[in-house]
Amino acid sequence: MTAAPEAGAGAAAAALQGTPLSATLSLVMSQCCRKIKDTVQKLASDHKDIHSSVSRVGKAIDRNFDSEVCGVVSDAVWDSREKQQQILQMAIVEHLYQQGMLSVAEELCQESTLNVDLDFKQPFLELNRILEALHKHDLGPALEWAISHRQRLLELNSSLEFKLHRLYFIHLLAGGPDKQLEALSYARHFQPFARLHQREIQVMMGSLVYLRLGLEKSPYCHLLDTSHWAEICETFTRDACSLLGLSVESPLSVSFASGCVALPVLMNIKAVIEQRQCTGVWSHKDELPIEIELGMKCWYHSVFACPILRQQTSDSNPPIKLICGHVISRDALNKLINGGKLKCPYCPMEQNPADGKRIIF
Ligand SMILES: [Zn+2]
Repeated sequence: MTAAPEAGAGAAAAALQGTPLSATLSLVMSQCCRKIKDTVQKLASDHKDIHSSVSRVGKAIDRNFDSEVCGVVSDAVWDSREKQQQILQMAIVEHLYQQGMLSVAEELCQESTLNVDLDFKQPFLELNRILEALHKHDLGPALEWAISHRQRLLELNSSLEFKLHRLYFIHLLAGGPDKQLEALSYARHFQPFARLHQREIQVMMGSLVYLRLGLEKSPYCHLLDTSHWAEICETFTRDACSLLGLSVESPLSVSFASGCVALPVLMNIKAVIEQRQCTGVWSHKDELPIEIELGMKCWYHSVFACPILRQQTSDSNPPIKLICGHVISRDALNKLINGGKLKCPYCPMEQNPADGKRIIF
């Protein structure tokens, strides 16, 4: 059919010259016309489909986005607009680096004239380089990294290096009997982990018996499971982040996920506060008017609620340990002072209020 457009063009030229069309030419012409009509129709219907889904996205945003959402944000947050904007941009850039979208991060830095120094970028660049290799089933860079950080990984109770060696060993086993000698000599890498991972090492040694038969037909076929690769990526990200002092998830995505849970609750409580006309209840300072459960995933550190005032302690009202060992908040302590003396509300030992010590969780 590739000749059809040429024939069509020729036919058009012939028609222009006033020559009557031959039967073949007029057949080609009508075929061409039909083809063009079909294509145009298909394009139009495709476009209609895309348009209807795009317009649905817009409607879904309108439906789900509550314009009242700004009401729960304190205006004070935007007091120094420029500085806040820079903090927000920095959080976005950090998120992009963490996600491995390096070029997008660079572009944003340039457009927002944000100055990110190399020391900040370096850990993300390194992590991404190693993870990319792991995704391609290349263990080299990860092994190199794990060996050079062996001592610190052991302090973190990490079995990353062992898992990497194990995966490399399995990769050799998958090569069949030809790789037997190489696999045996590689097994010496397990020596430092013999005590901690004895059982796993035994399993790997046992699998050698089936090398000739083929590992996939042996009771050890689970060693070839591809899930080990997903697991190693996860282990590497978790342990490397913790070693480098980075969070596994970017602060931006954690805040976003928490916001999705917290915002509807906050908007409800705001409506209740306004209805009851007790607007002073929520000062927007550093605490929320109610406690919002974000789930175990968002538990990062212990919190202390004062047993006297039933308030969560904060920097301005920290927990204080009395000399008898009981802990109350500073606000409660100040309220309990009577004539320069403090009587513990629990034991009740009398003491000097200045002897109380601040506790940091
Ligand atoms: Zn006490």
